[in-house]
Amino acid sequence: MNISSKVIRDLFPILHQKVKCRPLVYLDSAASSQKPIQVIEAMKLYYEWNHANVHRGVHTLAFRATEAYEAARLKTARFLHAKSEKEIIFTRGATAALNLVASSYARAVCKPGDEIIISEMEHHSNLLPWQQAAKATGAVLKYIPLQPNGTFSIEDVKKTITARTKVVSVSHVSNVLGMANPIKEMAAIAHKNGAVLVVDGAQSAPHFKVNVQELDCDFYAIAGHKMCGPTGIGVLYGREALLEQMEPNEYGGEMIEHVGLFDSSWKELPWKFEGGTPIIAGAIGLGAAIDFLEQVGMDNVAKHDEHLTRYAVERMKEMEDLTLYGPEDGRLGLITFNLKSIHPHDVATVLDTFGVAIRAGHHCCQPLMRHLDVVATARASFYLYNTEADVDQFLFALEKTIAFFQE
Ligand code: PMP
Repeated sequence: MNISSKVIRDLFPILHQKVKCRPLVYLDSAASSQKPIQVIEAMKLYYEWNHANVHRGVHTLAFRATEAYEAARLKTARFLHAKSEKEIIFTRGATAALNLVASSYARAVCKPGDEIIISEMEHHSNLLPWQQAAKATGAVLKYIPLQPNGTFSIEDVKKTITARTKVVSVSHVSNVLGMANPIKEMAAIAHKNGAVLVVDGAQSAPHFKVNVQELDCDFYAIAGHKMCGPTGIGVLYGREALLEQMEPNEYGGEMIEHVGLFDSSWKELPWKFEGGTPIIAGAIGLGAAIDFLEQVGMDNVAKHDEHLTRYAVERMKEMEDLTLYGPEDGRLGLITFNLKSIHPHDVATVLDTFGVAIRAGHHCCQPLMRHLDVVATARASFYLYNTEADVDQFLFALEKTIAFFQE
């Protein structure tokens, strides 16, 4: 990176602590990233100086809060390369963004016998909304078949999507396998068949430049808390023409134009999807996170995360009794693995005694776990504040764990 990861690390107050008497090595960013001082300060400034409700007040604080909230939307539109800020809807997270599409788009469009297509590698947040939408509409839920390593081929995508398909929804980057799916090619296949492509970008937007126009996807969901922003904020990007034809999924204050006793009308985009007092501080925090990531440069973030992942994988490949999951190449920012005969929860617990934080469990991907024939796995994930020294400490702790259980 142009800015060294040591300088970046210094901007994250939480990383400067000891856990179990050792310097914290935080390798759980795929679950939630840490926050730089800029994001913490932006939210502090908002609450200490600019807080008021947005859009409806005419006083100075209401004006400042509205300006800051809408400025965050503009930044997000630029970050995702959307055509217009009207296409950016703030939600509670990626889960809420995907649910919004499933309720407001799929449930309106799908008829019995139509198809909704997903894959078994999906996070539950990109599986359950479609399961429910299929049940509610009579649509058929179809899965793109997976190869033994959990990935799917573009040939299988072509075979699975048909003229009856209305929605295809896949993750850009898998939170277990770590590689990117061929979104642009999938968008072309979906469109050729008259379907829309929904992308779960929770694990991609933190790591590399996303250009929704270039990808030609119809919806794209992101999670603020995984990309240096606060919890409780996410984004749904949607193509303007599609959002226009969708009904809101929540009704109440803020999202109306006119309210009658028996009928009402909605505000224009994007506000018709933001009923109630919006997530003002969250959006402002996300805006600050985007400023920070852009200052570092998303290409630099991608290069750094790829480098650390490769650096770790090369050494993990040499470890006896260690199984890596996912494809050989192309992991970006995360490594999923198991140690023979040691439950991943035990691995994570022992690593914690070395100050190393990793994730263990099914990672909200139970169908993928079954496909890989495991009940759970361990996962180490890297981000822009991690260093080679972090990876060294992680691998050292891993070797000690193996030795401990061999005794
Ligand atoms: N999709 C993927 C691939 C994820 O990794 C996650 C977070 N674990 C989500 C969706 C859900 O995101 P959120 O926590 O913002 O609802």
